[in-house]
Amino acid sequence: MLVFFEFQIEKIVKFCREQYPIEACGLLGGKIENGVKIVKSVYFARNIAQSESRFDIEAKEQYEIIKKMRAKNEVLLGNFHSHPKTPARPSAEDRELMLDPNLVYVIFSLKDNPPTFKGFKVSRGEVSEEEITVKKVDYKTLKSGGIMRQTEDGYFAVRLKITGGNLSIEQLKGLEEVASRYGNGTLHLTARQGVEIPYIHIADLEEVIEKLKSYGLELGACGPRVRTVTACQGRSICPNGCIETQELAREIAARYYGQTLPHKFKFGITGCANNCLKAEENDLGIKGVCRPLWLKDNCTACGLCTKICPVNAITLNQQEISVDYEVCIGCGDCVKACPFEAYKGEYGYSLSFGGSFGRKINIGKKLIPFISSKEKMFTIFDKTLEFYRKEGKTGERFYKTLERVGFAKLEQYLREGERENGGN
Ligand code: SF4
Ligand code: SF4
Ligand code: SF4
Repeated sequence: MLVFFEFQIEKIVKFCREQYPIEACGLLGGKIENGVKIVKSVYFARNIAQSESRFDIEAKEQYEIIKKMRAKNEVLLGNFHSHPKTPARPSAEDRELMLDPNLVYVIFSLKDNPPTFKGFKVSRGEVSEEEITVKKVDYKTLKSGGIMRQTEDGYFAVRLKITGGNLSIEQLKGLEEVASRYGNGTLHLTARQGVEIPYIHIADLEEVIEKLKSYGLELGACGPRVRTVTACQGRSICPNGCIETQELAREIAARYYGQTLPHKFKFGITGCANNCLKAEENDLGIKGVCRPLWLKDNCTACGLCTKICPVNAITLNQQEISVDYEVCIGCGDCVKACPFEAYKGEYGYSLSFGGSFGRKINIGKKLIPFISSKEKMFTIFDKTLEFYRKEGKTGERFYKTLERVGFAKLEQYLREGERENGGN
């Protein structure tokens, strides 16, 4: 059996029509799996006979094509030629050229509209028909599963789910193996901490997915759903970190990744006010923050914290410190700087909603400046996605929904959710 993909047939038919009334010709390269010949590349050639009833490919051109096939680890599967005005069956001259029992000879007839095609093989001098299967390519379904069509027909960039930008050395080895064996030996690191493996041929996709699975690597999500969760290093590695970003990224991914929504939806987690991960660029941005709680008994009124605060949120008046939490950005500098431990740092999360850094840039709005309970935060996430599903129109980004219905409506929805869950 010989397997074509639909776009290859379209390309061949187009070429045959362009060559009309001369016979078009070319070679077919690909791979053989369990006796099935799968076409990966179609190589067009010049018919040096320039005839309407026969074709011939110059030896030098054949050699150049075979070299290209070898470079792509392909084998010669057969050839094709057109019959501009006659049916798709071998002429006496064709039969004389069908000599190799390992090859499939495909004839495209332009006599009918749409054109027809048939495959032939030869065994002990006898020519018989070879079965041809044409596979459709469902680009939309492939894209939703993280397999993105490239400019070059038949090739895809395979996107992986890399939560929080973290990969093990074993997984890196797996990526190296897949990219060298099936791709072009390169990887692309995406803007959102992801990895894409380009130049994967449609014919190799199933094998590639299995291989990736064996290294614990899953495909990424595209389209209108919750995308890869991004995160900085966070508290366990970065001394500035206020929260465990990586652990949180895994929890969010486990709970929401791939869920269908009106449009794509991105969670981004940054460990502190330094905002290395740019939380506000995300549909839902999470930032680790520190809320300073003043301990009067320890304070000597030295005034250092008022000078250190980057946003002038601290005032010292008659031995009394007051922190303006509306202004405070939760950097925790005052807590670290106070020589007398006159601040206790309370660590938690600050949430922003409706960020987007695509065609239109929108900075996420801070609706929840401080929340210390992770459990409560997950309730807010649940409610936010529920709200978006309910209020968002198909194809509408979250910030657009918020612009249309108003941020106040989301705030109210979240408050009601909090009440339902016993909050106050
Ligand atoms: S955002 Fe903060 S915790 Fe995260 S890497 Fe940057 S400095 Fe470290
Ligand atoms: S740095 Fe510490 S001791 Fe000095 S004023 Fe601030 S809280 Fe008080
Ligand atoms: S946490 Fe940072 S922003 Fe807030 S009061 Fe302290 S120094 Fe100022």
